[in-house]
Amino acid sequence: MPDFLRPDKDNYSDEELQQENHIRPQSFGDFAGQRQTLENLEIFVAAAKARGTSLDHVLLHGPPGLGKTTLSHIIANELGVNCKVTSGPVLDKPANLAGLLTNLEENDVLFIDEIHRLSPIVEEYLYSAMEDYKIDIMLETGPNARSVQIGLNPFTLIGATTRSGMLTKPMLARFGIQSRLEYYSVELLSSIIQRSARVLNIPIYEDAAIEIACRSRGTPRIANALLRRVRDFAEIKGNGEIELGITRFALNALKVDEFGLDEMDNKILRTMIENFRGRAVGISALATSIGENPETLEEVYEPFLIQEGFIIRTPRGREVTDKAYKHLGISAPKNPGELF
Ligand code: ADP
Repeated sequence: MPDFLRPDKDNYSDEELQQENHIRPQSFGDFAGQRQTLENLEIFVAAAKARGTSLDHVLLHGPPGLGKTTLSHIIANELGVNCKVTSGPVLDKPANLAGLLTNLEENDVLFIDEIHRLSPIVEEYLYSAMEDYKIDIMLETGPNARSVQIGLNPFTLIGATTRSGMLTKPMLARFGIQSRLEYYSVELLSSIIQRSARVLNIPIYEDAAIEIACRSRGTPRIANALLRRVRDFAEIKGNGEIELGITRFALNALKVDEFGLDEMDNKILRTMIENFRGRAVGISALATSIGENPETLEEVYEPFLIQEGFIIRTPRGREVTDKAYKHLGISAPKNPGELF
């Protein structure tokens, strides 16, 4: 997968992240889809505001690029409070966390991305902050070391994770509100693309927006990234307007197929069929064969391939389905595992 199309933002340049921030919806009304989650959140936010208390802690889980960060900013906006942003891997010491927590104003939101990657000490430190709005701070080190307890302003922790299964039970139990974000339909993605195009001042036809939506792996981050790349083609090879012809040309040049599967997705399916002969395969064996790390495979690629019915999970491992054979134009063996 080219870096700019990865649904996780690890490889995004600063400019791309800035663009992303620019087109982020700011209110519940601008946020497309995830109806049930949104309806519940709107009620919880309104209730917290009416009581003048902090919103209960929120856990958002789901694959990368589906709107967890966006939703956290929206929650803070709707509450009328600040949103401080950090992430699990960055918070490597309790002192870093203490610095952030003590700077929070009343009812502020603290957003921790990739919360499943917090170190166990930092996680434990967070417990009393979340539960009683108190933390222990160590004064001095060595033989004179002692700790004092300090009170914090009430705040809301919003944790985002692609892997809620990796969170410990005590951590999970501290989130009063837990929501899972789902992949988006083509219609929703097409409306997200049209909204982004309006914000970025890019003329786009509806059929072109639908074409981009079809190839966005159900993910707004990819839809927006494709929109920006298709715009480049439209400006250089076309008349600046994003219409269907230039869109198809650009998407083919970017090697994104009509199901939204990219080179890596197709490589995964082909490897499962050709190297493993369609038999059930474990995630680490598959990861080694395609040269990707098992976590990325499990968090980024697999959920979409499963949702679209190209692979299934069985107790013996992952298996390709008939749809995958059809997609690659390979005829399925009667008994998986037999030679072609
Ligand atoms: P995550 O935190 O889940 O990885 P983000 O919240 O950073 O995802 O979203 C990635 C991009 O997709 C952002 O630029 C945001 O504008 C856009 N986006 C995500 N969800 C929506 C949505 N429901 N409506 C409109 N745009 C969205």
